[in-house]
Amino acid sequence: MNKKEITLKIDGLEVNADRGDTILETALSNNIFIPNLCYYPGLKPWGSCRLCMVENEEGRLVTACETQVQDGMDIVTENTRINRVRKLSAELLIANHEVDCLTCRKNDDCKLQEIAAYLGIKQDDLGSLRCQIRDIPIDDSNPFFNRDLKKCILCGICVRTCSEVLGVNAIDFGFRGYESKITTFADRPLVESSCVSCGECMVACPVGALIPKEVLKPAREVKTVCPYCGVGCNIYLGVRGSTVISARGDADNSVNKGNLCVKGRFGFNFINHPDRLTKPLIKHDNKFEEVEWDEALNYVAQKLSIYKPEEFAAISSARCPNEDNYVVQKFTRAVIGTNNVDNCARSCHAPSVAGLAQIFGSGAMSNSIDEIKDSSCLFVIGTNPTSSYPVIGLRIVEAVKNGAKLIVADPRNIDLCKHAHIVLNQIPGTDVALLMGIMKIIVDEGILDENFIKARCENFEEFKESLKEYDIDTVEAITGVNKELIRDAARLYATTKPASILYSLGITEHTHGTENVFALGNLALLTGNMGKPSTGVNPIRGQNNVQGACDMGCLPDVFPGYQKVVDPVTIQKFENLWNVELDNSLGLKFPEMLDAAKNGDIKAMYIVGENPVTSEPDTENIKKSLENLDFLVVQDIFMSETALMADVVLPGCSFAEKDGTFANSERRIQRIRKVIEPVGDSRPDWLITCQLAQRMGAEGFKYQDASEIYDEIAEVAPIFGGINYKRIKEGGIQWPCIDENDKGTPILHRETFKTESGKGKFIPLHYRPSAELPDDDYPLILTTGRSLYHYQTSTMTGAVDGLKELYGEDCIDMCMEDALKLGVENGEKVKVISRRGKIEPKLRITDSCHPGVVFMTFHFGESATNIITNSALDPISKTPEFKVCAVRVEKIQD
Ligand code: SF4
Ligand code: SF4
Ligand code: SF4
Repeated sequence: MNKKEITLKIDGLEVNADRGDTILETALSNNIFIPNLCYYPGLKPWGSCRLCMVENEEGRLVTACETQVQDGMDIVTENTRINRVRKLSAELLIANHEVDCLTCRKNDDCKLQEIAAYLGIKQDDLGSLRCQIRDIPIDDSNPFFNRDLKKCILCGICVRTCSEVLGVNAIDFGFRGYESKITTFADRPLVESSCVSCGECMVACPVGALIPKEVLKPAREVKTVCPYCGVGCNIYLGVRGSTVISARGDADNSVNKGNLCVKGRFGFNFINHPDRLTKPLIKHDNKFEEVEWDEALNYVAQKLSIYKPEEFAAISSARCPNEDNYVVQKFTRAVIGTNNVDNCARSCHAPSVAGLAQIFGSGAMSNSIDEIKDSSCLFVIGTNPTSSYPVIGLRIVEAVKNGAKLIVADPRNIDLCKHAHIVLNQIPGTDVALLMGIMKIIVDEGILDENFIKARCENFEEFKESLKEYDIDTVEAITGVNKELIRDAARLYATTKPASILYSLGITEHTHGTENVFALGNLALLTGNMGKPSTGVNPIRGQNNVQGACDMGCLPDVFPGYQKVVDPVTIQKFENLWNVELDNSLGLKFPEMLDAAKNGDIKAMYIVGENPVTSEPDTENIKKSLENLDFLVVQDIFMSETALMADVVLPGCSFAEKDGTFANSERRIQRIRKVIEPVGDSRPDWLITCQLAQRMGAEGFKYQDASEIYDEIAEVAPIFGGINYKRIKEGGIQWPCIDENDKGTPILHRETFKTESGKGKFIPLHYRPSAELPDDDYPLILTTGRSLYHYQTSTMTGAVDGLKELYGEDCIDMCMEDALKLGVENGEKVKVISRRGKIEPKLRITDSCHPGVVFMTFHFGESATNIITNSALDPISKTPEFKVCAVRVEKIQD
């Protein structure tokens, strides 16, 4: 039946509804209020509060939240009988409720208050119903919100949110009768439960039972975008004076629909943190001295003028907006005269850019986040979405609840495994063998999409030939995954359509990262899962604007919009646009820059908003390179480990202090907005770079504001040609967007691929083991990843006390079997030694690791996980192998 085909009457008014809608939803969407407390949009109906009772045409009382509309219904929402029932229900709820309304922090925003007023309940009405308020202590264990169960009305919204939306199930109803309450496993404080502190239950709670610790109401709110991961959730930042005091999700936005994770909801205190850099600093005799901007900029401009172009390199920031990144690459190319510019995508998704470009002609997520929930099969490999991209994690859980099949392939038992139909725990670094093995089964069993291959692909026969090496027994031996599971996964993915692949750094951060990406591309082509809704190959980006930093040409081989720096026509175009002569050779990639710095070829570096000393592998090696520079300028908002090594530190602004745009994982360009004035003497990053360029005598850097920079981006890069600030005022646009009539491109490769031939190109692959395998001296494989509570090197999240309280150090995770063998215990400090160095983290025994594999996060300078990781590079993308290195774990002797 078509939409809105049902017609019914509510209080005599004729209204239309969709089949499946409830009476309550229909009434509310037609601005007819029906009291309710246990209803929450998006959750399954519960029908427990009995406040939404209405009378149907037969005169029966029914719960409006549970009863679906039917043609011809005639509903009455208000009469004496209905009100009597509602009033009694409400009075029973209020009877043992703490009525300290004036001092309750939910005052004026409490649904129980609203309903009491609507029903006209007075203190006297409670009379004999009034009973003793239960003596339940407040649970203040969570750093961000409190649970005061004296105010709980047992509506179950929090329980259902945690289960239905999050799939976490940290809380549930417990105890019986009068003792009933919302509780955790074993009635422990919330912080000791599986709660991930997302605060979704707190937002949904209709009364004052779940309340943020900081509850000041903002004086104003500004719509912007979360500064953490690549999901790009839309938020409203609340401000009082010049302090950001709150964040809430934008419910009307298609990316996150109001949902946020713990970082997005609570991780904003870094903005006004007292440790923010507020003055330019110049190092004299190994000590930083505060100086004024003129002195700092003149000094940097004068120093940078003395080096040859090839002696300079810039690292731009995946945290900063597109406009900042555009200006950094323009400065490097047009003012200094070199293509030596890169960004931290080199350490994460450069294999995606290189691999997907070769196979499909475009190196970005092919489909959209909102399509995930409609996939019939999700193949999630080498990514831990519930920790690293939590709102995408929610969409995956939603898809499974909608009936999608979920295959998870990861060396560890990540949280998503509990929702998966098939789990493949491959040995780290064996993804090519696993994926090619899966594809051999698909080909052998004839469950490939021959029509798609014939019509839209090339190089299939060569690829098919390369599958011969991957018989199932060999694949089982290489990957450690049971062959029947591999077979089941192959069949499930190939025969359940539409199927979508989601991956991230577990695929890319290998010495064969680009080959892993090729393998995923092959798999999607083989099964025809490209160019259609809810399909595709979808790299989830780690940092908020790592997509944008690449889009803006902060890469040594492309100008903005992926236009090649070695293409004579493109060079000519940019020379005309920028009115300068440009370098026509490929620049150095980040690891090559560091090598060149070590051997003295690179003498000066400009690092904007990145902290390679902690984020890159083999820390000692990085430090040696940076120490060997003549001149290092770091632009950041905190004194990071890298900033400490600089000759000059320039204070940039956080995302809340400047206008601009971020590009999220799905290529959506979204507006960020200035919420407060720059802290101290800090300046927007684009402005600092422009002022530097002007001091070096350059033209073309006199922008009035960030929007003028974006207009130039749209002018020089055709894929952004139709995007401007006016068009993305409310919601973002996904590139390519060629002109103002173009609504953008949610799905890439619908008709043709962007390769020269227009066909998707199969790539034959031969399995290569990781650079460093375990041996007698280093018998364990260390793999690394992120914690839910932190972001990169924690320069921002580390300044948020609550996040540090929830996760304050990088531990080493190990299974019980390995711990018993080594005689080490949970919580004790151990030595972790690789060929590059040693660290001493705490041990955490967990069943997420399998024997022979240990795991560490890399967020904190103190633990410096990357002292021991391997800097061996993928030969194509030059991305380091963070995900596999051989280590030995030893007990620390007293
Ligand atoms: S804590 Fe809030 S959301 Fe949860 S049951 Fe109680 S009143 Fe409802
Ligand atoms: S904060 Fe999130 S994870 Fe924790 S109980 Fe609430 S909904 Fe569940
Ligand atoms: S999922 Fe990512 S973008 Fe969304 S709130 Fe969390 S950190 Fe921010």
